[in-house]
Amino acid sequence: MPLIVQKFGGSSVRDRDRIFNVARIVANTFNAGNDVAVVVSAQGDTTDDLLEKAGEITHNPSAREMDVLLSSGEQISMALLAMALGELGCPAVSLTGWQAGFETNRSYGRARIKNLNTERIASELDKRRVVIVAGFQGLNVNDDITTLGRGGSDTSAVAIAAALRADRCQIFTDVDGVYTADPRLVPNAKKLQVISFDEMLELATLGAQVLNNRSVELAKKFGVELEVLSSLNPVSGTIVREGYDMMEGMLIKGVAKDTNVAVVSILDVPDVPGMSFKVFSLLGQKKINVDIILQSSGRGGNKDLIFTVPASDAAIAHQILLENLGRFGGKEVLVDTNVAKVSIVGAGMQSHSGVAAKMFEALYEANVNVRMISTSEIKISVLIDAAEADRAVVAIHAAFEE
Ligand code: ADP
Ligand code: ASP
Ligand code: MG
Repeated sequence: MPLIVQKFGGSSVRDRDRIFNVARIVANTFNAGNDVAVVVSAQGDTTDDLLEKAGEITHNPSAREMDVLLSSGEQISMALLAMALGELGCPAVSLTGWQAGFETNRSYGRARIKNLNTERIASELDKRRVVIVAGFQGLNVNDDITTLGRGGSDTSAVAIAAALRADRCQIFTDVDGVYTADPRLVPNAKKLQVISFDEMLELATLGAQVLNNRSVELAKKFGVELEVLSSLNPVSGTIVREGYDMMEGMLIKGVAKDTNVAVVSILDVPDVPGMSFKVFSLLGQKKINVDIILQSSGRGGNKDLIFTVPASDAAIAHQILLENLGRFGGKEVLVDTNVAKVSIVGAGMQSHSGVAAKMFEALYEANVNVRMISTSEIKISVLIDAAEADRAVVAIHAAFEE
């Protein structure tokens, strides 16, 4: 029997009506003669609400207890959906991440899946039941609950599809596909019929929330074709797959915005060999991802090291660098979180000149100042003031639409 994995995000299971809407989609798929494994997220803003609740108790929560708390949201959704399917006469069983066999590494809050033991899911499917799995959670080697990081339910779904060699993996959300920009920000953004794993991975990493970047990484690794579609509007969505190449003749597949960015500047460090190594290995040990790096040219034997980190890691990066400033010989560490990264992505830019110039022209015409630039084969990112980010996205999108 064909196996279909269906993932439903928070807005798709927001309330009673939405849960029954999801239950009908799942039951129809099941009744059409498919095995169905479902992954659910926490309802609506539940995860944010839980974070807020923890904040009412402490500003320094234990990472372990935080994951115990956050994993509860998905468990509410899975039970309610199983009950709704029962009401529709569709046999269903809900499983937590650990009942479903998700084994992760130790990193609370950003755990990576190490293994998925599919025995329990497979045996429930064999009994001809819909299996509903709580997304975004697993168990580490100490038998402690872990969560996979924000948006991690997408990754849970892809992992199940990969491990069980599903025939389809459908990611249902509140938009009907992947667009050339966030349709909430750019109303005339266009829906893409197809996008390659590589382009989607860049877009997701650069801030397009519609898919979690690790889910795309995993899908590419195991060749799991994804379908992004709406749980409310039954139209065809966007296919994410390997090696799609310019069939739509589009140079740029999308514009993305990321506001989870901070600029760190270490001023006046000695201009000697090994300085970058010292600074970045220290941050690496703390698992802080450094993205765009700028180094000023030397003056009077000193230079400045300027780079970006996720804003969510800015405070810890600041603290570590201050503690080690004496070791580096620097004068000052500055952190600025009022910045955003705006990026364009498209495999087509590898073989076309003038793409960067067009982006910079659009920014110039919109009077947006560029503070840092980074490029790879299929993307160009600029760092700008956060207040100008939305305007920049609209201007760049319009420039490439012409
Ligand atoms: P879910 O709760 O279903 O996981 P998310 O909120 O994580 O949904 O992702 C869907 C949202 O992603 C959309 O509501 C949309 O605003 C946003 N988004 C950002 N960039 C894009 C894009 N390029 N295409 C489609 N949606 C996008
Ligand atoms: N509920 C989690 C979050 O809000 C996981 C997810 O929705 O994918 O990030
Ligand atoms: Mg999501």
